[in-house]
Amino acid sequence: MAVIGGGLSGLYTALLLHQRGVSTRLLEARDRLGGRILSQGIDDGGRAIATATDRYDLGPAWFWPEIQPRMGRLLAQLGLGAFPQATDGLMLIERDAGVHPHRVQQGGRAEPRSMRIRGGVQSIVDRLSAQLPAAHVHRSTTVTALAADPEEGLVRLQAQGPDGPATLLARQVVLALPPRLCAATIAFTPELPRELQARLAAVPTWMAGHAKFLAVYTRAFWREQGLSGAAMSAVGPLAEIHDASAAEGAPALFGFFGLSASERARPDGESLEARCLRQLVRLYGPDAARPRAVFLMDWARERYTATAADAAWPSSHPQYGPVRAPAGLWTDRLLWASTETAGAFGGYLAGALEAAVVAADTVSATR
Ligand SMILES: Cc1cc2nc3c(=O)[nH]c(=O)nc-3n(C[C@H](O)[C@H](O)[C@H](O)COP(=O)(O)OP(=O)(O)OC[C@H]3O[C@@H](n4cnc5c(N)ncnc54)[C@H](O)[C@@H]3O)c2cc1C
Repeated sequence: MAVIGGGLSGLYTALLLHQRGVSTRLLEARDRLGGRILSQGIDDGGRAIATATDRYDLGPAWFWPEIQPRMGRLLAQLGLGAFPQATDGLMLIERDAGVHPHRVQQGGRAEPRSMRIRGGVQSIVDRLSAQLPAAHVHRSTTVTALAADPEEGLVRLQAQGPDGPATLLARQVVLALPPRLCAATIAFTPELPRELQARLAAVPTWMAGHAKFLAVYTRAFWREQGLSGAAMSAVGPLAEIHDASAAEGAPALFGFFGLSASERARPDGESLEARCLRQLVRLYGPDAARPRAVFLMDWARERYTATAADAAWPSSHPQYGPVRAPAGLWTDRLLWASTETAGAFGGYLAGALEAAVVAADTVSATR
């Protein structure tokens, strides 16, 4: 059994199969596991480190256990704690350049409440991967081609591994990478039907066109002003800002860019980081000019997340749903499992878990 992609969906599929006694290889293109999940800490000098106990989320940060019980159950099984997104205080609205931002009440308690994970969402990745046999997890291994062998009843996977080209044989393959990336980067023999290829290519990879800026501070100076840290801005470069403080560690603010991927890629003399800090100073005052550390994570530039088609992001949440293997040689040999193929919560972390459970159950039922 081979699972392509070591994001949440691939890791959870691999773990469920391992727990059911199915020998499973996990192939991950990056040199790290987690995919769109990425949490970073800082050392005393403000340098990024992956292993800190308190980490800041540069990918997903929130989950909603009231409506996504599988996430809550998984965290409990993994012994991970959660804490609510900080929302106490006033929110800022910045409508026009040169006009002082308005202060508004945040409309009561948001329902369902956004929750964050102690130690960052990466803690899920750490705990899941620790339960897999290390020898079956292959990082820096990019799958490039799949061929169904009609005689052996096996799938031949070709990959570019850390030591050069590698081949692996598997009875079944779970594609736990975004469908659009799968269509753009993996060659299939026999080819997938045209309609299926077009359908895969049309599925937007959730949040792939976005970028996050995050600044870590020594004091939560916004709270001292009665502010929650949340802001909506039509001026930018950040369009939506929130408190991103670690559970026990240093306070922080993060924002999603209002600039498109191509606007972010076009330098205009001043770095994006400097423009973001200037905006934070405008909103929260001079203390914002002196962060201990800043992070800028542009997901549109990540070749193992985004394709050129993801540069424009969808205006609303896409309709996601299961993808099935075509009839013929691929039947029961190919399964899709990324969050974009989930029957519920597609696009979200919870969707990655839903898709993984369905993939693992299907593998169990077809062996
Ligand atoms: C900025 C941002 C904010 C977000 N905020 C939230 C949030 O607050 N709450 C929420 O629920 N969700 C959020 N999401 C979405 C969430 O991150 C995803 O739902 C989830 O991480 C998807 O997991 P996945 O395993 O399906 O896909 P991915 O995490 O994309 O995993 C796919 C894996 O496949 C690997 N891969 C790709 N190509 C190959 C190949 N050829 N060979 C081998 N490996 C390959 C990739 O490297 C990657 O590790 C956010 C996403 C982003 C980017």
